[in-house]
Amino acid sequence: MTKPVLVLGAGPAGLAAAHALASVGQPVVLVDKESKLGGAPIISGYAKLVPSGEWARDAIGGMVRRVEENSLVSIRMNARVEAFEGEPGNFKARLSDGSSVEAGAAILCTGFTHFDSVNKPEWGFGTFPDVVTTTQVEQMISSGRGVRCPSDGRKPQRVAILLCVGSRDRQIGREWCSKICCTVSCNIAMEIREELPDCHVYIYYMDIRTYGLNETYYWKSQEEFKVKYIKARIAEVTSDGQKLIVKGEDTLVKRPITIPFDMVVHAIGMDPNVENKSLAQVFGVNLQEHGHIARGSYGASGQTSRAGVFVAGAATGPETIDDSIAQGNAAAMAAYALANRKDAVAA
Ligand SMILES: Cc1cc2nc3c(=O)[nH]c(=O)nc-3n(C[C@H](O)[C@H](O)[C@H](O)COP(=O)(O)OP(=O)(O)OC[C@H]3O[C@@H](n4cnc5c(N)ncnc54)[C@H](O)[C@@H]3O)c2cc1C
Ligand code: SF4
Repeated sequence: MTKPVLVLGAGPAGLAAAHALASVGQPVVLVDKESKLGGAPIISGYAKLVPSGEWARDAIGGMVRRVEENSLVSIRMNARVEAFEGEPGNFKARLSDGSSVEAGAAILCTGFTHFDSVNKPEWGFGTFPDVVTTTQVEQMISSGRGVRCPSDGRKPQRVAILLCVGSRDRQIGREWCSKICCTVSCNIAMEIREELPDCHVYIYYMDIRTYGLNETYYWKSQEEFKVKYIKARIAEVTSDGQKLIVKGEDTLVKRPITIPFDMVVHAIGMDPNVENKSLAQVFGVNLQEHGHIARGSYGASGQTSRAGVFVAGAATGPETIDDSIAQGNAAAMAAYALANRKDAVAA
């Protein structure tokens, strides 16, 4: 019988890959370091997803259940891979829980790490409690608590959302665009306005990248929800003791701005997984220049630099959920073809 395919990481990409493999009869061992499945949308408690509008717990929760209920998928939680040896069709992985797994191929779906806003100290995170991240606002909404100032629990009357925090910032070594944070921010702005109709919400941007059909979020947020957009360079976020003060330059009219707010939200980007160096060592794969797991050319879906080891989703760079799922499915197809080749040697 064919050896299972090892899928590492049970976020949207890994869940899609595991389900695709199991649905064509291929056994899977799905390993995740966390104690629950679902990746960032579940572990970080996202609220309603873009562009589907579905709650993360329903949409991604459904993907989790589909995999949990499939007898061809063996799930190992709270586990990492410590060693991975062998060749296509005949790999052996040693897990941190002491067990070992024989596998015909592996798919790395190990995702990303949220940018830590303390790396942008001039924008006030970690200094002022009412400077928060999009992830924190997602959690306020998904928990049902509503959007409140962490310092004293009051409803904010003025909220600023700062885009590109930890993305498109060469000064701190992050020149990539994180792709999804513009649309997520438009959505969060509308959710705040819906819950708190008296609250004024401003989005400070360099460029708006609500690409493709996501442009709807940009227009709807302005026309229906009266969210205000200001093209600006933000210099710093300080406090006058009462309010947070956002300082910078309005780059359209080329004038300095100093504006008070109750809450400032950092639209944080997607860093490479902090574990990528050790993952690259264990699996013998190359990283690309920014530290994401490097993909081969177009020919083989998700092929890494090591034959028989594939990669999908945000492990390869900032990706949306839709694209992570598509890549998970494509890598599953490539891994299946390889694991079921009688003379399996290379992709
Ligand atoms: C604030 C915010 C909001 C977002 N909202 C949306 C949205 O509404 N719509 C959208 O399309 N996208 C959204 N995204 C992007 C979305 O989070 C990603 O597209 C998606 O999570 C990528 O899925 P993934 O499976 O590739 O990675 P992840 O979701 O990061 O999952 C990776 C999995 O691998 C596991 N893992 C990591 N390292 C190891 C290891 N060494 N060993 C074992 N397991 C490991 C993790 O525990 C995790 O379960 C948002 C991003 C941010 C930052
Ligand atoms: S998607 Fe928008 S907020 Fe995110 S990095 Fe790109 S331009 Fe900045």
